[in-house]
Amino acid sequence: MTPAQRDRRRAANPDLRARVCKNAGEDRAHQKRPAPFVGPRCTTCNREEKKRKKQDRRDKHLEAKFGMTQPEYDEVKKAQDGVCICGAWTGYDGSTRPLSIDHDHETGIIRGLLCKHCNDLLGRVHDDPAYFKAMIRYLESPPAVRVLGVRYAPGTGPAMVQ
Ligand SMILES: [Zn+2]
Ligand SMILES: [Zn+2]
Repeated sequence: MTPAQRDRRRAANPDLRARVCKNAGEDRAHQKRPAPFVGPRCTTCNREEKKRKKQDRRDKHLEAKFGMTQPEYDEVKKAQDGVCICGAWTGYDGSTRPLSIDHDHETGIIRGLLCKHCNDLLGRVHDDPAYFKAMIRYLESPPAVRVLGVRYAPGTGPAMVQ
């Protein structure tokens, strides 16, 4: 029997249908839909309990690894307009995967929040601002243009626009 089949079988059991949610002590009306449930709590409470446990794990992680609380994390995120520094281009806001807490590996100072892409990039270039300065120079004054003049990759350029 699969877990889903077992859940369905239990849900069809009249004994289970008559069960009272563990959290129903003070508030019997809290259960939005009086559907049968298999655990000690109703579906609504079970969902909240799971959410609470997930936040608990996150709180412990933030505290242990960064000495930071969730409200502090949220405050930093707000200061970054809710997005990674790449957000203006990618729109990435950490909704699918929370933004990582970035810190200076030499000093240990926590700098801010970055998406995985930006955090990885920073790691690959050893947090070195000189890389980004070199990249700006490269984009603003492409070496091939300096040497060869304006050349277009085959199949691109103004000839293709007409
Ligand atoms: Zn409940
Ligand atoms: Zn980013």
